[in-house]
Formats: sequence, structure tokens, C-alpha cells
Amino acid sequence: MSTSPTLAPMNTQLGTRRTTHQPRRLLPARPSRALDTDLVWALGIYIAVITGIWIIHGGLSQFGDGTIGIATGVTQLTGLYASAAGLLGLFFAARPRILERHCGLDRLFNWHRVLGETMAVLVGVHVAAGIMAWQVDGQWGAVLADVTGRVPYFAGATVGAVLIGVVTVTSLKSIRNRLAYEAWYFLHLTAYLGFALSFGHTITSGTDFSDDAIARWIWIGLHVTVAATLVWSRWGHTMVAALRPLRVAEIQRVSHDVCTVRLAGGRLQQMRGSAGQFCFLRPLTAAGWWRCNPFSLSASPTTEGLRFSIKDRGDASNYITSLKVGTKIAVEGPYGVCTSDVALDRKVMFVVGGIGIAPARALLEDLPASAAPVVLYRARSRKDLIHYDELVELAARTNGRVLTLVGPSASLAVKDPFSASSLRRAIPDVAERVAILCGPERLLQAARHGLKRAGVHTSDIHYEHAWW
Ligand SMILES: Cc1cc2nc3c(=O)[nH]c(=O)nc-3n(C[C@H](O)[C@H](O)[C@H](O)COP(=O)(O)OP(=O)(O)OC[C@H]3O[C@@H](n4cnc5c(N)ncnc54)[C@H](O)[C@@H]3O)c2cc1C
Repeated sequence: MSTSPTLAPMNTQLGTRRTTHQPRRLLPARPSRALDTDLVWALGIYIAVITGIWIIHGGLSQFGDGTIGIATGVTQLTGLYASAAGLLGLFFAARPRILERHCGLDRLFNWHRVLGETMAVLVGVHVAAGIMAWQVDGQWGAVLADVTGRVPYFAGATVGAVLIGVVTVTSLKSIRNRLAYEAWYFLHLTAYLGFALSFGHTITSGTDFSDDAIARWIWIGLHVTVAATLVWSRWGHTMVAALRPLRVAEIQRVSHDVCTVRLAGGRLQQMRGSAGQFCFLRPLTAAGWWRCNPFSLSASPTTEGLRFSIKDRGDASNYITSLKVGTKIAVEGPYGVCTSDVALDRKVMFVVGGIGIAPARALLEDLPASAAPVVLYRARSRKDLIHYDELVELAARTNGRVLTLVGPSASLAVKDPFSASSLRRAIPDVAERVAILCGPERLLQAARHGLKRAGVHTSDIHYEHAWW
């Protein structure tokens, strides 16, 4: 790795507007008061209550009643757990602020995905065991009539199970990668409908809720809580962002495939946010309102504007960078926990690749001089080094430096630039530093592996997980 002092200056003073007043930094994102132990307790109580409801209503004793009893017990338990997993998954997707500030949106989305997959498997077992318990002497016609409407609320449950199945299959990586993000997303929303349609049969079938008012109210209360969180925390924030939009103040091309976009507006006076975070941007235009994509702040957020560095990757990013000045944009967020708080007054290093430079560039503005940051910047070619001059200037202000690693992987002098030995050679005190990683998943994996082997503790390695 080498510093690249000879690189041509690219883009200094980007996105800054000449004004007579000094812009004020936004107040930092509020820290969460939740602790890991709180979350473990809440989860433990949730599982205990659901399981307890099943046991109290004779769930366990059914296992002594032969094949039909076992099938009935499995049907009830998997049905309860499927709904419980779905409810929790929806709660995470609602992005409750207290959890987002504690765990980060990426982790909430990944847990949402895992819970969705778990729910789909449980629904599959629930349906299979239910059919087994139900069909007596092979009366398949009667079973079909029951689940398609003869038994109250079962038609909804059947449609719900089919929708959840379709969403699960289209979420498999091999299928999802062939769909546009938006097509997958809108299809994915039908799982909410599927979940709602199946609610009625959870109350009326079996003995868990139909005969026990307390259990029934607990169950209804859980659903109402999740629905209220979705309405307020998810759709409410979307509405506020749409009703109080920011406007495009400036767009500048800074490289062959990256533009900076600065958004400004009165709402910034009340917003909170920190370098290292990202926002969802939704252009409020006839052709753009249905697109909502995440982009990281590439400068510290101030009352004068939020700056993003957006790479031309596809329809949504091209669309945003071609908007006219003055266009309204709904801004949701900022989200993310990888802020300067993770540095804890220690020395810092960044491993950055591609457009991952955006949050790193913003974070450099917020670090104290004691951070002495070292930025390892990986790019395919020199023309892909974005914000290079700004990085060098900001790193120098905090006693830091920028090391670049440029070229296709096959042409690099070292086989693995993120191996422990390469990292130690480039940064002799690597093991004492807090590491912040921003970039594509392959780079994160390689860097994580090398850093751990170089002696950096896992809790000192920070990054956002890819959720798509
Ligand atoms: C936390 C986070 C921060 C990001 N910060 C930046 C940034 O600062 N600058 C930048 O240029 N890019 C950033 N990205 C990537 C950016 O969101 C995608 O490149 C953009 O959404 C691509 O959309 P598209 O329609 O232009 O391209 P498409 O061709 O539609 O998508 C290209 C790829 O982008 C991803 N993607 C598309 N839509 C979404 C979405 N709504 N949510 C999540 N991923 C999606 C998918 O992996 C997809 O395969 C960030 C992504 C995340 C998750």
C-alpha cells in the first residue's frame, strides 16, 4: 500500500454554498438506553408467554393421544410460533427507534429476514400437521371444503399461507437477484396482507384463545402493539418525511460515475443526525415517489444541508442524480449506529472500498485529533478514487493519513492486501485501533478476517451488514 500524493486533485469544497452565517452541526443522533440484557429478557418473556399459553391449554398432554393428538399438538404449537415469529419480524421491520439506535437498522432487517424464513417453515409444518390431524379416513374433499371457507376464517388463513409461501420463494437469493429491488419489495409487502388474513383463524380455532379471555386479550394486545408500532414508527415517519421534505440544493459530478447531491430545507433545524449514518431518499415526483433507496451521508450533517455521494448503479441512483435543483425529496432517517461514538477516544482505522468512502469521508470530519485515523482505500482504478483530496485534508487535520490500494485484484503486488501481515506492515499499531469498515460484502469479509488475525478484537470492528 502506498500513499498517493501525486493523484490529480479531484473535488475540493464540494457541495458547499457561500453563505454569511456559519452552518450549525445537527444535534447528534440520540443514544439508545436499551441494553443487550433488556433485549434478551424481553425475548425470553415473549417465548415463555407464548409457550405457556399452549401448555396451559393442554398442548403437551395431546402428545399422549396417538397420531392425531400429536399432529394436533404440532399444528397448534407451530401455528403459535409462526404467528409469534411473524409478529416479532414485523416489529423489527417497523424500525422502533429504541431498537434501531441500539442495534442498527441492518441488524433489524437481517433479524426480520431470519424471522420471516422461520415463520414460513413453521407455516409449512403447521399446514402439513393440520391436514394430517384433520383428515379422518382420507376425506380430502371435506378438508378442502373446510380450509377454503366452510370453517369460519379458514379461507383467509389459506390465502395468507399461500401469500407467505410466494413471498418466501421470491425472497430466495437465486430468485430475488433476478428481480428489480422495487418489484421484490412490493411483492414482499403482500406478506403483511397474508399475516393479517390469518389472524381470525388463530382466535377461533383450537382452545388457546377461543375459551380463555385472558390469553385472547394478551394475543390481541400483541397484535395491536405491533400494528401501532408499524403505523407510527414506520408509516408515520414516511408520512412526516413526505410532508416535510428537503429540496435538492446542488448536484455536482465528482467522477465519471459519482455525483454529490446536497439537500437543504427548514426541517434540518429540528433534525438530528451524525456522520456515519445513512438516510432513505424518496424523490417526490410523479416518476420517482415509489423509489426509496438508502444513501450514506458523505459529509457531517449541518443545518445548511445533507450531502450524499451517489454512484450511478441503476435506475434509482441515476434518477436522483439527474433531478433538477429544487425537487422535493422525502428523507427518512438518519439511521445507523456506526458513528464517531464507536471510536471511544481511541486511534481509528478505516478499511474502505468503492462508494463505501462516503460514510468514511463524513466520519473523518467528526473524529478528534487523538484518533490519528489511517484510511485504507481500495479502488479498482485511480479514476474511482472519490473525494481523495478531501480525505487527505481531513486525515491530515487529525494527524492521520490515507493509503490507497488501486487496481484489479489480479494486478496487486500482494495476493491478499487484507491479510494480517499486510495490515501490520501498513499499520504497525493495527491491534490497538478501532476499525471501521465500509464497502462491498467481499471487502468486509476479507478485512474482518485479516483484522481479527492481526489482533483486533471483534468488538473493535464496526460495519453495517448488507441487508439485501
Ligand atoms: C446502508 C446503505 C448505505 C448506502 N450508501 C450508499 C452511498 O452512500 N452511495 C451510493 O451510491 N450507494 C449507497 N448504497 C447503495 C445504494 O442504496 C444502491 O446502490 C442503490 O439503492 C441502487 O439502486 P439502483 O436502482 O440505482 O440500482 P439497482 O440496479 O436497482 O440496484 C443495484 C443494487 O443496489 C441494491 N439496492 C437497490 N435498491 C435498494 C434498496 N432500496 N435498499 C437496499 N439496497 C438496494 C441491491 O443490491 C441491488 O442489487 C448504500 C446502501 C446501503 C444499504
